[in-house]
Amino acid sequence: MSYVLEIKNVTKKFGDFTAVDSVSFDVDDGGFFSILGGSGCGKTTLLRMIAGFEKETEGELFIRGESMKGIPPEKRAVNIVFQNLALFPMMNVEKNVAFGLQRQKIPKADTQRRVTEMLERVGLVGFEKKRVTDLSGGQRQRVAIARSLVLKPSILLLDEPLGALDRKLREHMKIELKILQKEIGTTFIYITHDQSEALVMSDKVAVMNEGRFEQLDTPKNLYKNPQTSFVAGFVGESNEFDVVNYSDGQLTTQNGCKLVKPGIDFKPKKLFMRPEAFILNPSDDLEGVEQISMKIKAILFDGSNTKISAIINQSNDTVLISLPQNAQFEDLQEGDNLQVGIHRDDLKCYQD
Ligand code: ATP
Repeated sequence: MSYVLEIKNVTKKFGDFTAVDSVSFDVDDGGFFSILGGSGCGKTTLLRMIAGFEKETEGELFIRGESMKGIPPEKRAVNIVFQNLALFPMMNVEKNVAFGLQRQKIPKADTQRRVTEMLERVGLVGFEKKRVTDLSGGQRQRVAIARSLVLKPSILLLDEPLGALDRKLREHMKIELKILQKEIGTTFIYITHDQSEALVMSDKVAVMNEGRFEQLDTPKNLYKNPQTSFVAGFVGESNEFDVVNYSDGQLTTQNGCKLVKPGIDFKPKKLFMRPEAFILNPSDDLEGVEQISMKIKAILFDGSNTKISAIINQSNDTVLISLPQNAQFEDLQEGDNLQVGIHRDDLKCYQD
């Protein structure tokens, strides 16, 4: 597969401050690639360098094999959708979408055909003459995306485009965006601080922290095999413990849990366990399964997903345990003792 974008050792400094620190990665043509990270980690700066709004201090980037050194934004085969969308409020939907084509002096008939096709693609037929100010938040999103895609960029950059929407609409739009990207086949590079958006929509996700990539992987691998403690804590829900001792394949946590985890060739400092990795009331002889005694603090019913918050050895450290979908939890009560198991493979240990 060819790469639509190659980033080679790209660094961006603002004075003494390094916002992006020697990042290298490739993006497959036609994929949905997300850059996920907390506020200030350098996502927007990286995106702005791809678009050409910011010049890299070191390193080089290539779009379809061509170096972007000295190439201004308008000459790059990329387009960007901003969080605030930047639509023209006084224009109707059709005129917003046609704007870029008119600027490129595309003949009128071609412009009309491309705008009509694009509005069909994004489900806005019938809205051509509406002013964008009269549309819903989700419809405005689609106009912004149509306005960018109609220019046929090699890469569409999306800078937290769902950030301003309410939760329900965001949930809906992330599914729409994923489907739209697959139908159209344009490469999307999407930046977000929302791990659920990144996991649901992307083929590949790069987790960014303090200007560096911690891990670049498929959503499934990021979740199942986080390579660093930052990724383990940032992606998905996890119970995090400090490891105070490790010897002869046995680790001891800060709250006195002793668990067998052989085969670690470093001194672990952190232990992560996913809420859904726990097995309730396991039999004693389950191979490779470690047992932990807990006490139920609270039962957290959340419609589709019930969890237990429990404590270990009278410490105040709570552990979240997901119950299986059809679990009968009516018998469980606050204050009850609870025996749980966890497979050794699900004890994720890290050095830092
Ligand atoms: P957010 O999600 O909050 O937008 P981000 O991950 O997109 O965060 P960036 O906007 O890339 O973060 O900023 C990364 C760091 O670089 C921040 O500490 C920011 O203050 C700094 N920074 C960004 N632009 C400039 C600039 N023009 N001059 C100085 N520092 C800057």
